Amino acid sequence: MQNITILGATGSIGVSTLDVMGRHPDEYSVYALTGNTQIEKLAKQCAQHGAQFAVVGDHLTAVRLEGLLRSLGCATEVLFGRDGLAEVASADAVDTVMAAIVGAAGLLPTLAAVKAGKKILLANKESLVMAGGLFMEAVRTSGSVLLPIDSEHNAIFQCLPHDYHLTNGVKQADAAGITKLLLSASGGPFRGWSREQMMTVTPDQACAHPNWSMGRKISVDSATLMNKGLELIEACWLFDVGAEKIEVVIHPQSIVHSAVQYSDGSVLAQMGNPDMRTPIAHALAWPKRIDAGVAYLDLFEIGQLNFEKPDLKAFPCLQLAYDAAATGGSAPTFLNAANEVAVQAYLDERIAFGQISQIVDETLTRLSFTEPESLDAVQGFDSEARSFSAAYITEIES
Ligand code: NDP
Ligand code: MG
Repeated sequence: MQNITILGATGSIGVSTLDVMGRHPDEYSVYALTGNTQIEKLAKQCAQHGAQFAVVGDHLTAVRLEGLLRSLGCATEVLFGRDGLAEVASADAVDTVMAAIVGAAGLLPTLAAVKAGKKILLANKESLVMAGGLFMEAVRTSGSVLLPIDSEHNAIFQCLPHDYHLTNGVKQADAAGITKLLLSASGGPFRGWSREQMMTVTPDQACAHPNWSMGRKISVDSATLMNKGLELIEACWLFDVGAEKIEVVIHPQSIVHSAVQYSDGSVLAQMGNPDMRTPIAHALAWPKRIDAGVAYLDLFEIGQLNFEKPDLKAFPCLQLAYDAAATGGSAPTFLNAANEVAVQAYLDERIAFGQISQIVDETLTRLSFTEPESLDAVQGFDSEARSFSAAYITEIES
């Protein structure tokens, strides 16, 4: 029996994780569930899955949640804040932590789980983008098992040799005969559009992803292709390769989730219907396989698979991410923070879609880069980029 904490249980990944776990009640149990704003949903999840602990952001919300839980006849204990998250991520009784909080807020609780040596199911790509070097070092030191949930990274992981260790700190790609990682991208809802056509699209249009159903932040990131940029950086850290070894491939059907090219000309790809329960089930059960509730792939119904190169002019966020990956140091931290601020401003309808890349670009141009040597330094860079981009948004608004 694996006892599991889900950080970000009320989100899209959290709900899919509970769905897969619920299909195998003899294998997986819920230790703790965490949420932020969706308190009623969290209370229902705790009651349904018998969570021992629930965590929310602050004391007032914790009191409200407690009221809801007791009215459901549920004895789940409620904690709050950073300490609460760290506690349920690192408790002795926990075997596995699903890291599915969105954005930079996911970094500290995920690191708490890493430092406690838990098995980590990593959905929160932002923590690797912000602090990849420190994060991977912490994984190596603690001996945590790290499994990627992001569908592309999970696909690549499945196509790597069995003895390819994500965390032994030795460059293995060349020795394993890997010549390229092919990172799939659907292209999002605006594939084939020009930058001018995209300038004024609404948040609802941007969040209407053709193949994947996801939270609003990652949906906007998919529409700008910043999501692929973040994933490029995520892949560099996870698989210990340089960005030049990674090629982004636009594949509108989202059936080939990514692939690995080897020196003998073989390309190993992982395919499946676009449903996050597949990578979640893969990582939960690894190295076994379990039913995920996902319909099997019908290749006859799909008929065709198409591939094209990304248009870096129409989608400048991807180019910005390539540049940040090449610069290294604090550049990816700046990129991530400025993007989070810009996407929130876009969702709040304060800026236009086309201005997201402008804000990230300006932040990266104006701030100077250094090597982050500690977690405090990373958080300092994150705050610096947030302040800069927030001020820049106010400036362009007026
Ligand atoms: P959602 O927006 O659906 O869910 C985010 C979760 O994080 C919710 O539980 C939310 O709580 C919680 N949360 C938000 N802000 C905070 C905060 N400041 N402190 C604590 N908790 C917070 O996102 P997704 O599930 O779509 O994505 C989660 C992560 O997984 C992201 O990093 C994303 O990039 C990654 N990912 C997602 C994929 C997908 O298909 N959805 C695919 C690949 C990666 P509440 O809702 O209660 O406010
Ligand atoms: Mg992905």
